[in-house]
Amino acid sequence: RFITFEGGEGAGKSTQISRLADLLRRRGHDVLVTREPGGSQGAEAVRHVLLSGQAEEFGVRMEAVLFAAARSDHVEQVIRPALAEGTIVLCDRFIDSSRVYQGVTGNLEPALMRNLERVAVNGVMPDLTIILDVPAESGLARARKRGSSDSAGPDRFEKEEISTHEMRRQAFRDLAQSEPKRCKLIDGTLSQDAVALSVLEHVDPILPA
Ligand code: C5P
Repeated sequence: RFITFEGGEGAGKSTQISRLADLLRRRGHDVLVTREPGGSQGAEAVRHVLLSGQAEEFGVRMEAVLFAAARSDHVEQVIRPALAEGTIVLCDRFIDSSRVYQGVTGNLEPALMRNLERVAVNGVMPDLTIILDVPAESGLARARKRGSSDSAGPDRFEKEEISTHEMRRQAFRDLAQSEPKRCKLIDGTLSQDAVALSVLEHVDPILPA
C-alpha cells in the first residue's frame, strides 16, 4: 500500500507520518517512511539543489522538470521495490505537491504537468492521499518555529507571500474535491491526537488483512 501526505508548510505532515508509522509497526506491518523531494540517493542530490539559493535563478519549468526527475529516481529506486515486497510506504509529499506548487502557483500548463507526472510515476500511484488542511498563517507560524530541515534559515519556499500560501491551500482543497476516492482532506488545526485518529480512519480500510 502506498500512502502519501500532502499540505502546505507547517501542516503537520511529518508528525502524523511518524505517528502512523509507529502504530503500523506495532501492529506488525513493514513500513517505509520516505519524503519528497528526495528519498533516494539521486533525488536527495536534486533536493539539495532545489532547496538551495542556487535554485532562485531557475525558471519554474526547470524546477518542475527537476522535481519530476527526482520523483522518477525515488519511485524506481525506493518506492516500487518496497511496494513489491509488501511494505507499506508512507511518503511526505508526492504528485499533489507538484500539481499545486509548480502547476497552480507556478502557473505551468496542465498538459505539461500531466506529462511530467506520467513520466515520473511510471504507473506507481498512491492508494490514499491524506491532505492536511491548515490556514496559511498558522501553518507558516508553525514552520518558522520548527525552522527548516535543510538550512539554518527558512528555505526559499517559506519566504513567499501569504497569498501564495493561501492559493496553495485552496488548490489542495480543490484536489481533494476532484479526487474524493484517493484524496482525504483532514482539518490540521485539530489536536494531534484528533488528526491521528482521523488519519487512521482513512488508512484502516485500505490495509492488507
Ligand atoms: O515537506 P517540506 O515542507 O519539507 O518540503 C520542502 C519544500 O519543497 C517545501 O518548502 C515545498 O514548498 C517545496 N516543494 C515544492 N514542490 C514540490 C514539493 C515540495 O515546491 N513538488
